[in-house]
Amino acid sequence: MKKILALLAAAALVATTFAFAGCEKKVEDADANVDGEAVEGEVEGEVAEGEDKEAVEDEENAATEDEKEEEKEDETVAEDEGKLVMATNAYFQPYEYFEGDKIVGIDVEIAEAIAEKLGLELVIDDMEFNSIIAAVQSGAADMGVAGMTVTEERLESVDFSYSYANGVQSIIVAEGSAITTVDDLYAEGADYQVGVQLATTGDIYSTDDFGEENVTRYSNGSEAVLALQGGDIDCVIIDNEPAKALVAANEGLVILETSYADEDYAICVKKGNTELLDKINVAIEELTAEGKIEEIVAKYIK
Ligand code: GLN
Repeated sequence: MKKILALLAAAALVATTFAFAGCEKKVEDADANVDGEAVEGEVEGEVAEGEDKEAVEDEENAATEDEKEEEKEDETVAEDEGKLVMATNAYFQPYEYFEGDKIVGIDVEIAEAIAEKLGLELVIDDMEFNSIIAAVQSGAADMGVAGMTVTEERLESVDFSYSYANGVQSIIVAEGSAITTVDDLYAEGADYQVGVQLATTGDIYSTDDFGEENVTRYSNGSEAVLALQGGDIDCVIIDNEPAKALVAANEGLVILETSYADEDYAICVKKGNTELLDKINVAIEELTAEGKIEEIVAKYIK
């Protein structure tokens, strides 16, 4: 357990450093990366110059790629149309969840406050958690706001804003379970089935720790909890606040006092989109200074 926390702490530190190192690092990345969009004109120019050693076909391919890239940009950068599209998974109370047919929650209110500062209209696109990064990468969404933990692996696919909240991975068990502390999961001869939400850090870390064969993936926390109540699995590893909401809404479940991992939540944007990332970071800084983020969190977490 300690080992995990130390590793996570180290990863979080690296991740946060990356996030805060922000703009400069990312502009460099964009320069080095043909796909980077932040400095399109320059990058494309440089690439074209560097290509004279390449075969003519390659040049043609590159041109087609560029064209495709431009087309994609035109149709997907919603920001240009006065909208800020947020990809999320609205089964993650209190960060994003349905109240009637409306999606509400901490992330939604923070995203609304950011959109307001940017003079844009927030549009929420609810999808599987596992699809959020791809939606941001393709430009179908401008940003992912989903209680998303900054991890080194995700930093390879997207860029993250400053962190706006801390998360804790908790363990839910049935009342009277043989699992009474996190250490029981690691005990000699332990052979528990762990339920997680697909592609979350709960999934990634527990697959690492307990092996593929001991982890069952569900599309959201409610489904995992249903399986726990039905006795299909022995525990659910999920973020602490959703865990509390799930335990409050379902009979016979408890959250262990010992937690599984500590994390930082941040907003992800397409890799190299420093323009939007910088604006989001400025907005987060301002909202933090204004006490607005604290106010939003306090509204949902008593
Ligand atoms: N914090 C977890 C992660 O980023 C879970 C997020 C979620 O399920 N919305 O993987």
